[in-house]
Amino acid sequence: MDELTKLKIRNAELEAALAANQHALESSRQEILRREQEIEALHEFDKELTKSEDLEFILNHVLSWVKVRTHADYGLVARWDENRQVFEVLMARGIALGVDYQKGELFQLPNHLRPPEVTERDPTGILFDSSQTYLVSELRLAEGQLIGVLVVQRHSGIKFTSSEKKFTRIIADRLTISLHMSTLLKRVQDMNQHRGQLFRMLSHDLRQPLTVLMGYLQLMEYAIKNNKPEMAVTYVNHISTGAKDLHSLLEEVLLMERVANLSSTDWNVVSLLDISRQALEKHQAAADLQDHQVILELPEGEAYCKGLELELKEAAGNLINNAIKYTPKGGTITIRLLRHEDFWQFEVQDTGYGIDRERQARLFQSFYRAQQPGTENIKGTGLGLNLVKSIVEKHNGKIFFESEPGKGSRFGFWLPASEAKE
Ligand code: ADP
Repeated sequence: MDELTKLKIRNAELEAALAANQHALESSRQEILRREQEIEALHEFDKELTKSEDLEFILNHVLSWVKVRTHADYGLVARWDENRQVFEVLMARGIALGVDYQKGELFQLPNHLRPPEVTERDPTGILFDSSQTYLVSELRLAEGQLIGVLVVQRHSGIKFTSSEKKFTRIIADRLTISLHMSTLLKRVQDMNQHRGQLFRMLSHDLRQPLTVLMGYLQLMEYAIKNNKPEMAVTYVNHISTGAKDLHSLLEEVLLMERVANLSSTDWNVVSLLDISRQALEKHQAAADLQDHQVILELPEGEAYCKGLELELKEAAGNLINNAIKYTPKGGTITIRLLRHEDFWQFEVQDTGYGIDRERQARLFQSFYRAQQPGTENIKGTGLGLNLVKSIVEKHNGKIFFESEPGKGSRFGFWLPASEAKE
């Protein structure tokens, strides 16, 4: 080969290398441009995200972004409920291929994405199967605690690309922070509301009986100074009743506080038969004083559920106490425990005053007293039903009632059944 040919070959090689370099340079430039756009887009996304603390707004924003950016047809966010060990849907957007989930429903991971079938899980915690058209991004706090999932689905059959997966992960991380913040914010708001209620209670429900007590104390002083023992005895009785009322109000407030901080870590398997019997025992004397007939209908065999015995007894007792209080003398109170599939139903039926429709709507608000004709002079704090509801819901149960003015009421709750004492 002569020198010229060699030079020509060398020249061609250099030109090819140059073209390759230029090509690499161009793709790097494109990549930098793409990243810049991505950063700019995320910046815009963050700016929007911080515009509101409202969870609906945040979820809407996240889902519309992730859908547009990943060309997905469907997006869903669900919150992990640690107590019930289930995912609860917070929002779903788009057209679902499978189940069309609504807010508040329990979300189930599709069978093919449940362990051990999950075919892949990338290091950032995204689950996907071989079709790679359905992505589940776990929302985990820094210490690993699961708080929810972000799901995206595409119907076209085209796999999500790795950059779409990465983008979904970035959005999922931001959603984790927002969701966590909104949970904390909700807790603070609840605490504030609770504090407000306590403050109102202190300024009204406690001050009023205290003023009455102080009045009777002055009258007592007068009776003693003027040597009127019969009058003094009457005043002592009033003072004693007032002090008892104040005591039970404080007990209920303290119980409310305890219930607000209940945790499932202290649960035991408890017998609902014992709870029903003991709750009735506590109020039997009050029922006798009112000449009520009390019927206790318990099932054969055992009846277990998981929870805190003291608090559940308090919940059952409160319903029994209300039935006794809000039924005119000589009524019938029926306490029942029934089994339905995997839960127990505890209920108390009375033949009392009943509650009309308008008042029924507010029954479970704390400090609400639905005064019906006939019940105006019956003592109470308006905390009982609120307490029952909180206790039952802390035990993953649900409260129910039906009532008809002049005929009576039926209040009760459902609790998940547990099979046997461990
Ligand atoms: P309290 O009895 O201390 O007022 P609750 O929270 O237990 O408070 O009940 C709220 C209101 O609901 C009561 O004031 C009463 O008007 C009504 N209520 C509750 N249980 C019954 C019942 N079994 N029959 C009729 N009214 C009831």
